[in-house]
Amino acid sequence: MTTVDLPLLPLGRGTDLSAERGVECPGDLPPASDPDLVARARAAKEALGDKVFVLGHHYQRDEVIAFADVTGDSFKLARDAAARPDAEYIVFCGVHFMAESADILTGPDQQVILPDLAAGCSMADMARLTQVEAAWAALEAAGVADSVVPVTYMNSSADIKAFCGRHGGVVCTSSNAEVALEWAFEQKGGVAGGAKVLFLPDQHLGRNTAVLQMGLGLDDCVVYDPHRPDGGLSPEQLSDATTILWKGHCSVHGRFSAEVVDQLRATIPDVQILVHPECTHEVVLKADLVGSTEFIIKTIEAAPAGSSWAIGTELNLVKRLAAAHPDKRITFLDKTVCYCSTMNRIDLPHFVWAMESLVAGTVVNRIEVDHETEKWALVALERMLALPGRTAKD
Ligand code: SF4
Repeated sequence: MTTVDLPLLPLGRGTDLSAERGVECPGDLPPASDPDLVARARAAKEALGDKVFVLGHHYQRDEVIAFADVTGDSFKLARDAAARPDAEYIVFCGVHFMAESADILTGPDQQVILPDLAAGCSMADMARLTQVEAAWAALEAAGVADSVVPVTYMNSSADIKAFCGRHGGVVCTSSNAEVALEWAFEQKGGVAGGAKVLFLPDQHLGRNTAVLQMGLGLDDCVVYDPHRPDGGLSPEQLSDATTILWKGHCSVHGRFSAEVVDQLRATIPDVQILVHPECTHEVVLKADLVGSTEFIIKTIEAAPAGSSWAIGTELNLVKRLAAAHPDKRITFLDKTVCYCSTMNRIDLPHFVWAMESLVAGTVVNRIEVDHETEKWALVALERMLALPGRTAKD
């Protein structure tokens, strides 16, 4: 089985509106040097009133977060948007797959706007529908597809979520990945009954969940590489594995290293290492605590004054946590600056441009998922919503 292999385009180039790799955003933007940008954003927001609801992901810049009606991780924000059916416009300050999820979960009359179309997600872009369909064909050829349930992380495009919906699968977040995997294995008779999971697109979240939370072995996992024929795996390897991990990763969380964990432990007395499960298995093994962005925020909020933390997640969030908790010592778990470059595409000029366009009656950068994709993606999302214990763990 050959894989249709599209080249990864540099972010900000290209024309495929449904791609996570980002496209050009030819807006008539105000210059970043305009001293009135904050006043213009404020005026536009006031003019739009309740017609607009602004969502700000935790990894956004401070200048944008300042205008968010609500902040959160991607799934919380999509739910927040769904809880505001009267808002005509949802301005999503985040990345493309998040805006898609908001469009899926909001009403047909609500319009979701992404201020910069170049704000894609490199992880989501690592699993494209043609590649995943080719992988499924490889599983069929190996005679194991009937035992496989696909599970996709929220950080995936709408058509990958729809693929999971069509094939009996489910969406998960970093908060409920363990429950989602347990559910998925149960659908095919459990691990002992030969059930398998195809986990998309983040191999690290999949491995950390399968091994550290479910107690499976590292050798129960194989990595499917979409750039190699049949994923680089033999039918025997596919047949023997319980967890088939897609070869994708987050370019931000993948940077944290076990060496830096060791260095920080040697230099900061009693430092606690707090990381996101998108980090590599080696880093997660060395951490004291592992959890979603919401978990990281709550952990720091509840931490005693004087405690020391090194946090492995996106830098905008870590800097905001450090500023909000000056009584705690908060260090970034990397030696170099590590922003999510695509999250950072949403800046004040793009925000002002999108908001002022709405005031003028023009909807720019609308993200709209087609009906068929939306229908099946919703099936996978609703299976997630029905998972036991989801609310408690989120
Ligand atoms: S932090 Fe990683 S997963 Fe999140 S949007 Fe950026 S590249 Fe994607």
